[in-house]
Amino acid sequence: MSTLKAVRGTRDLLPPETELWNFVEETARRVFARYNFGEIRTPIFEDTQLFARGVGEETDIVSKEMYTWEDRARAQSEKAQSLTLRPENTAGVVRAYIEHKLGETGLLQKLYYIGPQFRRERPQKGRYRQFWQIGAEAIGPPSAGSESPLRDAEVLEMLATFLNELGITGWRLEINSVGSATDRPRYVAALREALAPMKHLMCEDNQRRAETNPLRVLDSKDANDQEIIEKLPKIADYLDDASKAHFAAVLAALDACGVKYEVNPRLVRGLDYYTRTTFEFTHGGLGAQNALLGGGRYDGLSEAIGGPKAPGIGFAMGEDRLILTLQSQASWGQQIADEAANTVAKGPHAYIAPMSLEVAPNALELAQKLRGEEFRIEVGEPGLKIRRHFEFAEKLHAKSIVFVGENEVFGKTYSMKPLGSRANIVWNFTDFSKFVSALRGTNRNLVSGP
Ligand code: AMP
Repeated sequence: MSTLKAVRGTRDLLPPETELWNFVEETARRVFARYNFGEIRTPIFEDTQLFARGVGEETDIVSKEMYTWEDRARAQSEKAQSLTLRPENTAGVVRAYIEHKLGETGLLQKLYYIGPQFRRERPQKGRYRQFWQIGAEAIGPPSAGSESPLRDAEVLEMLATFLNELGITGWRLEINSVGSATDRPRYVAALREALAPMKHLMCEDNQRRAETNPLRVLDSKDANDQEIIEKLPKIADYLDDASKAHFAAVLAALDACGVKYEVNPRLVRGLDYYTRTTFEFTHGGLGAQNALLGGGRYDGLSEAIGGPKAPGIGFAMGEDRLILTLQSQASWGQQIADEAANTVAKGPHAYIAPMSLEVAPNALELAQKLRGEEFRIEVGEPGLKIRRHFEFAEKLHAKSIVFVGENEVFGKTYSMKPLGSRANIVWNFTDFSKFVSALRGTNRNLVSGP
C-alpha cells in the first residue's frame, strides 16, 4: 500500500516551529487589544452564495480557486446545499455582523480573526492551498464613524506597530484610493474604452479581464503587458472631491503618526467590494509572493450580501508569509529561535523516572504537582533500568532527572540530579518547596548543591 501524505498545497506545522506561530499570534492579540479589537471566530465553511456575492463571481478566487461541494440532502424533499471552504474571512465576518445585528449597537465593531483559509492555487513558496490569515475589520453604521478616514489611518498605524513589534524590518506600505461606488463605474468605463483598441495585444488572461473586470488588468504581473498598462488612465483622475478629500485625510493622518507609505496608482486589489482606500504591505525577503498583507475599505459589501449600509475597513495578513519573513531575518531568527529552543527543543525542566510499576501513581502525582508549579515535566516508563531512564532524559534534553522509588514514596522525600553537570551526586530533600527551588535552580543552570 502506498503511504498517505498531506495533500498537495497543505502541510503540517511541527514543534518547535509552532512556537513561532504562537509568538506571531500572541503578538497580534496583544497589539490588536490595545486598539480595542475583539476576536471573532466564524465557521470554516459557509454557503457558497456568500462568497459568490461577497467576493465576486468574476474574481479568480470565486471562479477558479474555491473548494466547493454539494452537501448531502437529508431528506428527498430537501435541496442539496452548495457549501464552500472559506477562501477568505471578510465575507464571513460581515455575514456575522448582519446576522447578529451588530450594527444596532450603534457602535463601530472592531473584530479580528486568526485562522486557516483555502484556495486551490498553484502551490509554491509562500503560496499554499491551506494557508493562515490574521485579519481584522472595523465595520459599523455610518453614524458610528465607520466611513471616517481616521479609521483607515488607525488600522494602517496598527499594522505598522504590529510588524515593528514582531520584529519585521524593511516592510513597504503601498496605498491607493480606488474611489467610491460612483467614481468606480466612470473609471471602469474609461478603462474599457482605453483597452478596447489594445486588448488583443495582451495576454489571454488580460483579454478576459478587459471584458469581465478591467480593474484587474492593472494588477497583472504579465511582463509583456506592462507597457500598455502604464499608459492606461489613472484612477486618481476619476476621483470625485469627496474621495480625494478622504484619501488626503488618510495620508495626512499617516504622516502625523510617522507611518511611511508610497502611493501606487495601480494598486487595485482583486476583490469587487473594495472602495476608496486600498493598501498592501510587501517584503523583499519573500521572493515572488512578496505580499505580506492586503486590505482596504469595503463600503458596499454589507449591502452586496443583503445587509444594512455598513461601511468598513479591514485587512488580511498571510501568517505563513509573516513566519517566512521572520525566518529570513537573521537577527530576529536567532532571538526567537533561541526562545523556542529553550521551551521545546531543549526539552523539559525535569524527567521523572518511576523506578517500578508500583510507584507509577506516585510519579504521576508528583508530575501533577510540579506542573502546577509551571514546570514542563516528562514522565518516563515505570520500571525501566536506571541507565535507560538516563538515556531518555538526555535524549529529551531534560535539565534534571527526578527519581521516584520506594525510598522516596515511603520516606516522603524527593531525589533529583541535575543533568549536564559533571558532579555525580543525587540531591535529597524532605521539603517540597526546597526541592522546587533546587529544580528552578537547575533551570537557571545553577549546579551548586542545595
Ligand atoms: P487576499 O485575501 O488575497 O487579499 O490575501 C491577503 C494576504 O493573504 C496576502 O497578502 C498573502 O499574504 C496571504 N495569502 C493569500 N493567498 C495565499 C496563499 N495561497 N498562500 C499563502 N498566503 C496567502
